[in-house]
Amino acid sequence: MPATSPAAMRRGVMFVLSSPSGAGKSALSRLLLQDDPAIRLSISVTTRPRRPSEVEGVHYHFLDVAAFEAMRKRGDLLEWAEVHGNFYGTPRAPVEAALAEGRDILFDIDVQGTLQLYKKMRADVVSVFILPPSIAELERRLQRRAEDPEPVIRRRLRTAEGEIAHWADYDYVLVNADLQTCLAELKQILAVERARRHRQPGLPEAIETLLADLRAVLARPEA
Ligand code: 5GP
Repeated sequence: MPATSPAAMRRGVMFVLSSPSGAGKSALSRLLLQDDPAIRLSISVTTRPRRPSEVEGVHYHFLDVAAFEAMRKRGDLLEWAEVHGNFYGTPRAPVEAALAEGRDILFDIDVQGTLQLYKKMRADVVSVFILPPSIAELERRLQRRAEDPEPVIRRRLRTAEGEIAHWADYDYVLVNADLQTCLAELKQILAVERARRHRQPGLPEAIETLLADLRAVLARPEA
């Protein structure tokens, strides 16, 4: 892409996905990241024990509570929250670097984290709340995952009530009845939000150039 292209001067989108646990957000994130190389995942730090399928530095950075507290006190976290009895937080430095370079970042964070990001950088955030098609389906998906013990599943279902109550804090709400349909909708939202005027700070200059070229063409004597 030429350096003068308006798109090259784009400011990155902070694309926030939230949902009750089991609504399919992780699968959607994984597919979106696979299909769209222009967006990268913000890798959170957490004090939650690692699940067998998870990899340090890919899904999360797994920390003990003391290390988490140290990061929080140093101001190294853009936002943080306690969710289901564990701490989670977003490291600040990678986000700031990505935004400045015009790269988009995907956040898989909860409602408390989203509200904190709104306070700090509302214009950069585009938020999507993913709903399950039904509670029966939510429960089925949590049980099918089978990586968490039953009391953990119950706790996640209890938390779901408070989370769903926040649907109206989000810019977009999608129902994940079908993974591929929901993925396509997410991609549409991202495409539209990338084109918003305020994310293209280079536009006035690029348009000046276009208009100057147009005036030069119009000034040519007619053939
Ligand atoms: P899980 O333990 O299932 O990976 O995540 C539990 C919840 O914590 C999910 O709703 C997830 O979106 C949220 N979460 C993960 N990372 C962060 C983070 O960095 N900040 C906040 N506020 N929530 C997070």
